[in-house]
Amino acid sequence: EARIRRISSSIRVIPNFPKAGVMFQDITTLLLNPKAFRDTIDLFVERYRDKRISVVAGIEARGFIFGPPIALAIGAKFVPLRKPKKLPGEVISEDYSLEYGTDRMEMHVGAVQPHDRAIIIDDLIATGGTLCAAIKLIERVGAEMVECACVIELPELKGREKLGDRPLFVLVKGT
Ligand code: 5GP
Repeated sequence: EARIRRISSSIRVIPNFPKAGVMFQDITTLLLNPKAFRDTIDLFVERYRDKRISVVAGIEARGFIFGPPIALAIGAKFVPLRKPKKLPGEVISEDYSLEYGTDRMEMHVGAVQPHDRAIIIDDLIATGGTLCAAIKLIERVGAEMVECACVIELPELKGREKLGDRPLFVLVKGT
């Protein structure tokens, strides 16, 4: 599809960032191309508009770029999933492991309710550890996890397998 090609060609790959051997998928160049950015949002909106989604949960930081326009277009709440000590209210949190050490993701208590149907948005899935922490937060409050959605998947890292039976929708694949 022309839209997928436009999105794919707008993502810049930067070798050796943030460290040697990593091919970093840079979505800031996608944001510089209003047509490609619009296509990205449209493809997600077309997929989710008739699925009774009530929550779009966005992962800090790049899930905060793609999540809100999708949430507005489908008439859902936007819920930020944040790094530790950023949210001012009462939170629930999930620890998850990184290549070196661990990190933590937090969500405001009450932001997501048991009757909610949620999608989780991030820019990219690599090992899947980040999305897994997000899924746990949503499922812990009893909400329904409908799907994870990313602009880019790095299939070689097999993050999709880590998500178990939770569906994952992606627009493009990177290497
Ligand atoms: P995972 O937990 O799946 O291994 O890593 C995914 C997280 O790391 C996402 O939040 C994503 O934003 C970030 N990330 C890892 N590699 C890249 C990359 O090459 N490009 C971008 N834009 N984000 C990355």
